[in-house]
Amino acid sequence: MTENLTADLDALARDLDAEHVFHSWSAQGQPPQLVIASGRGTRVWDHAGNEYLDFSSQLVNVNIGHQHPAVIAAIREQAELLATVAPSAVNLARGEAAKRIVARAPSAHNKVFFTNGGADANENAIRMARLHTGRDTVLSTYRSYHGNTGAAIVATGDWRRIPNRFARGHVHFFGPFPYRSEFWSETPEQETERALQHLRRVIESEGPASIAAILLETVPGTAGVIVPPPGYLAGVRELCDRHGIVLILDEVMAGFGRTGRWFAFDGYDVTPDLITFAKGVNSGYVPAGGVIISDEIAADFDERVFPGGLTYSGHPLAMASIVATIDAMESEGIVDHAREVGAEAIAPALTELAEKHRVIGEVRGEGVFWALDLVADPETREPLPAAEMGRIKGALVERGLLPFTADNRIHVVPPCVVTADEVAQAAEIYDEVL
Ligand code: PLP
Repeated sequence: MTENLTADLDALARDLDAEHVFHSWSAQGQPPQLVIASGRGTRVWDHAGNEYLDFSSQLVNVNIGHQHPAVIAAIREQAELLATVAPSAVNLARGEAAKRIVARAPSAHNKVFFTNGGADANENAIRMARLHTGRDTVLSTYRSYHGNTGAAIVATGDWRRIPNRFARGHVHFFGPFPYRSEFWSETPEQETERALQHLRRVIESEGPASIAAILLETVPGTAGVIVPPPGYLAGVRELCDRHGIVLILDEVMAGFGRTGRWFAFDGYDVTPDLITFAKGVNSGYVPAGGVIISDEIAADFDERVFPGGLTYSGHPLAMASIVATIDAMESEGIVDHAREVGAEAIAPALTELAEKHRVIGEVRGEGVFWALDLVADPETREPLPAAEMGRIKGALVERGLLPFTADNRIHVVPPCVVTADEVAQAAEIYDEVL
């Protein structure tokens, strides 16, 4: 293809998009964004060949990097063998995928319910918890995103939350956030103690016997990569045990390598009852998600029907891609790499940036899951205004870096396979722009 023709394809993509595509979470009048036509590893290109470092991982999704050849081959092979099958059918790829997922989960979790993504994973986990306990109320935090379907969007605590018009029984509380504490804490330990005291009061006030589940992102992601302070998750577990409440940990964004561990909760002293996942399980090559179920809750449905499932649940192309993704992550040591590149390249680079730029109020994260909390004033920690964030985002893209920004933060979330050289290249761009 000539350069002219490829540039024409970018123009065509933008025109078709503007005319016919109705976008999610956007006002429709905005000008079309950059075109992403192809990718490899940590990099993507438009049709004209302009290159971008993907430090967004496409909504914190492609943990294994773009176009991993083994995963693409597995999808192709499965498509040639059988491209679709009903969720009720027994299919080898589905069993193989479930086996690999539970092998990384806590030992008393041996069943997987497959979904098409993260929101319906949370939707079904909530349904399971309600049926298992016979209770209605679900507690979740204000700083959370759990997906954009019925119960998941009501459980969501951030600005996208739909007020409780459609679903009953959702109550929000504040989780810990040492840098922006609601509890006036001065240390992470104090934050843990006070956040647990707050949750204890919420449980008592709602009535423990009415609470089916506590739903938490292990590390709240979209809300700002808020690493939980020591002892918090263990404290929540203890409250759940005391009151017979199901603990659902949402690992949709944090799971499958992003924190440098298979599951984020592996780094904390906690075992959830239900684990929801999506994204990193197959890097989003084919839509997939699911719920990993404790043996105790799974046994509850031995003799009664679980009312859930969609036509495409456990889709064979998704299943084949999960098998290939997990095998590649294992054989190539991708989870270990995420931990090492985080500790040895990303953490030092971001710390150096923070020492240089007063606009960075805090650097937090682990693995390939980081946030720069940008402030107008480091003393008051007043968040950087939206207009400034818009300028920063535009300048990063202009210099060839695809960022993930949310509120007053830049989330530094490259694929797990990012190299130290790519981190250095990105750090130079952040430095120039900030
Ligand atoms: N849960 C968390 C923690 C998420 O970050 C997301 C999406 O970003 C979801 C659930 C929803 O997943 P999906 O968009 O696949 O429905």
